[in-house]
Amino acid sequence: MKTPNHSQANILKVLEQTKKPLSAQEIWAEIQKQGQKIGVATVYRNLESLKIKGLIQIRTVHNQAIYSLVSEKQNFATCLQCGERTPLGISLAQSVEAPTLQSQAFEVYYHTLEVFGLCSPCQERSP
Ligand SMILES: [Zn+2]
Repeated sequence: MKTPNHSQANILKVLEQTKKPLSAQEIWAEIQKQGQKIGVATVYRNLESLKIKGLIQIRTVHNQAIYSLVSEKQNFATCLQCGERTPLGISLAQSVEAPTLQSQAFEVYYHTLEVFGLCSPCQERSP
């Protein structure tokens, strides 16, 4: 079943509205702001369900899990200093790996190319 429940729908709405990847804490804070009563543990549990349903993707920045919508087709370069993400303007949609995995009975939800470095403001700030 890929249909999200009420809490999961709220999480997806927050990710849509903010249009940027968020940590579980940030997602929880946004939902609170919108006047919804929800516990942090519930947010974590639902993020896990959404991940397994293939509706969100997870990355780690500064040892923190960051969640975003899977519908994001873009690939990004992530700044190691501030975590800012710059669109790369290229897509891995034609990647050879996904079809190979599909044929091995693995259901591919998304795949990513991650590039890390420093964004321009951080380059200027760095010695
Ligand atoms: Zn930066």
